[in-house]
Amino acid sequence: MPEFSDVALPVPLDMVFTYHVPAEASPVAGGRVLVPFRQQRLTGIVVELHDRKPSVKTKSILSVLDASPVLDEQLLRLGRWIADYYLAPLGEVFRSMLPLNAEFKRAVAYRIGKEGQTALHLAGMSGSSRRSQRTPEEQAAEFRVLDYLAAQESAPGEIVHVREQTLRSATGVSKVVLGGMVRKKWISRADVSAVRDATRTIKVALLNSADGKLNENQRTMVETLAASGGRLPVETLQALEVPRTTLGTLAKRGLIEIIEEPADFAVSRSKPRSSRLPFDFNSAQQAALQRLREAVDARTFAGILLHGVTGSGKTAVYLAGMRAVLDAGRSAILLVPEIGLTPAVAADLHQIFGDEVAILHSALSDKERAQHWHRIKSGDARIVVGTRSAVFAPVSDLALIIVDEEHDSSYKQEEAPRYHARDVAVMRAKMANAVVVAGSATPSLESYYNAKKHKYALVELPDRVEQRPLPEVEIVDMREEFQKTGQEQVISRKLSAEIKERFDRKEQVMVLLNRRGYSPVVLCRTCGKTLECQNCAIALTHHKREQKMICHYCGYTASVPQACVHCGSEYVYFLGTGSEKLEELLHGMFPQARIARLDRDTVRGHEDFERTLNALSDGELDLLVGTQMIAKGHDIHGVTLVGVIGADSALGLPDFRAAERTFQLLTQVAGRAGRGIAPGKVILQTYFQDHYAVQYAAHHDFAGFYEKELRFRNWMHYPPYSALANVIIRSHLLDEALHWSGTLGRWFEQNRHEGVRVLGPAASPILRLKRDYRYHFVLKSPSREKLNGTLRAMLAYASHQKIPRTQVIVDVDALWLM
Ligand SMILES: [Zn+2]
Ligand SMILES: [Zn+2]
Repeated sequence: MPEFSDVALPVPLDMVFTYHVPAEASPVAGGRVLVPFRQQRLTGIVVELHDRKPSVKTKSILSVLDASPVLDEQLLRLGRWIADYYLAPLGEVFRSMLPLNAEFKRAVAYRIGKEGQTALHLAGMSGSSRRSQRTPEEQAAEFRVLDYLAAQESAPGEIVHVREQTLRSATGVSKVVLGGMVRKKWISRADVSAVRDATRTIKVALLNSADGKLNENQRTMVETLAASGGRLPVETLQALEVPRTTLGTLAKRGLIEIIEEPADFAVSRSKPRSSRLPFDFNSAQQAALQRLREAVDARTFAGILLHGVTGSGKTAVYLAGMRAVLDAGRSAILLVPEIGLTPAVAADLHQIFGDEVAILHSALSDKERAQHWHRIKSGDARIVVGTRSAVFAPVSDLALIIVDEEHDSSYKQEEAPRYHARDVAVMRAKMANAVVVAGSATPSLESYYNAKKHKYALVELPDRVEQRPLPEVEIVDMREEFQKTGQEQVISRKLSAEIKERFDRKEQVMVLLNRRGYSPVVLCRTCGKTLECQNCAIALTHHKREQKMICHYCGYTASVPQACVHCGSEYVYFLGTGSEKLEELLHGMFPQARIARLDRDTVRGHEDFERTLNALSDGELDLLVGTQMIAKGHDIHGVTLVGVIGADSALGLPDFRAAERTFQLLTQVAGRAGRGIAPGKVILQTYFQDHYAVQYAAHHDFAGFYEKELRFRNWMHYPPYSALANVIIRSHLLDEALHWSGTLGRWFEQNRHEGVRVLGPAASPILRLKRDYRYHFVLKSPSREKLNGTLRAMLAYASHQKIPRTQVIVDVDALWLM
């Protein structure tokens, strides 16, 4: 066994750490080890075993947690690529790749040491000489610990470690006292942390309940077991308000038995809606599937951009492709956006793929996630469907990765490591000689550009299924509406008339307003100030039903002001409209209509989301109002009208992606109309009716929009023509944020970075967020190597200047510059 091990630890430092490998240990590359780090013990991943003696003294590995790698060679390589590309610490990358935290049970234990035994012995001989400078209470506590530990080691030569929790509850001493005893070697401490196998559950089985002589606690336990069929997970019984020793007593008396069983798992608990296989494909779908299958069979890397208009049946192509992969005995991963993975979708997938599918979504507990991970790792599940991090699923013989709605921003992780799952999917497919399919009705500029440059094959589904037409879009100019009606309108006369018409025909309507809450701004007419969040430079939003002012960035809440908090004036006005107010307005206009709202305030989980959509689908609702959540790819046939209110507000933001996002949102929401037999219509209310994003969306002219937007990006040196990174310097203290960003600004100025443009430092558009003051730099370069080289040098300089690594955020390929 090599003498040293390089370990990647989940700490914000761009390095790996070398540890000594103890004689009896045999760590493996890609496996987990427990190591001492500063005052803590951390789990890390072994990245290399070697015999190169480091110049500094090394500590030893405490324990080896895996006998075989949890990250295979390919995933280790993928992790290194992410660390390098996104300038993220390797240990933090590995932590995001492995959902195995639940498996690891941290524990320390103690045993009595030689000095402790001597102390105990001396005290026994001289009777009352338990004397020192310590208080009598401290002494008494220490001797309670010694007595307890000595009592455990009754047989000579026996080594008994007592877990800290047990020792403390038996003796009532604090951690401080134990620490003091360790220092003077009266007792010794050992790490007894262990990996619990998540694929197995420890259960308690009832053997005999007939014994009459039970105390109250014992009876509670026996009755609980009997009531649930005589078998329960041990955690369930430990959660009862019964002393923990009860379980042991019952086992000793032979009334119960502790057993280990494979853990139950459920792919899905909902009933499938309908079988989606076999599919009835049109010729474009057939051609797309054929293309996909040929690429998979070639067993070499290929990228495909599947551009299909809304309602063109992309999902059916994905599922048929994955089914073919499974039938060939290989593996596939389907990535879906955050909100898309509802219980009904899971049930459908279960129907198609049986128990060979693993579904990873955000509602899973850590333990369930670990169970699915093991099912995938063992090869029991070869089809994986999940959100962002499912791209790291440990499948073997990967043949296909599909990224559905590849333009969706939930694929970008907005905390370290700030990776984009679509781009990671492409890299993983390259490493595995697999095929990656990025699918969307509104591809990102990056993917469209790659297809134009022939890096990806472009496959199009130009028509809706069954030749249904795309909806007609009518633009309503809200400036004109204001001139004609003499007041600011939320719902134009045109939209109102069209809604009424649909209700008369018993058809359904969706109305989009991409802003939640009741009123987005509270303004004082006397001093002109707004009510801002305490932690962020952001106006608080009024939420009427909750009777609160809420910050949408950090969650801070305040009571609804009766008077101005700045000057005390009573003339406070609630301005603007959010989805909550829109729902109220629509109720007022159409009192007979059944109206529901879909946004982050009404949807707490996937179940809420699905319940509302099912109600719409089953005809129990006439109108659904909501934020962009209503625009996400669901398929409801009764909706013939979509109203869009202020969807273009993003066009006013200082962000180069504003036009792209607006085009995508307008196209996606328009795509909800007319998916059934009756044709659809879209009313698009706007203050920017001449803006090209609005015009091209209204004409369903994808190519037109992309060509125009690409020209603009090229001209402004923005992605996809330049690699871009946003560097944010943050601190709770304004002075510090200014000082650090000034220091880095001077460094950028004094060190010419050929081929890299640096803008800033400038105040971030949101200057203060979650208590941090924020300044930023935007770096652009046509060369990714040069960009990353500059960023790496900047981080080294920042570290040299003692700017904490956590206060410098490097966001490579940033989606937001706010
Ligand atoms: Zn005021
Ligand atoms: Zn806030």
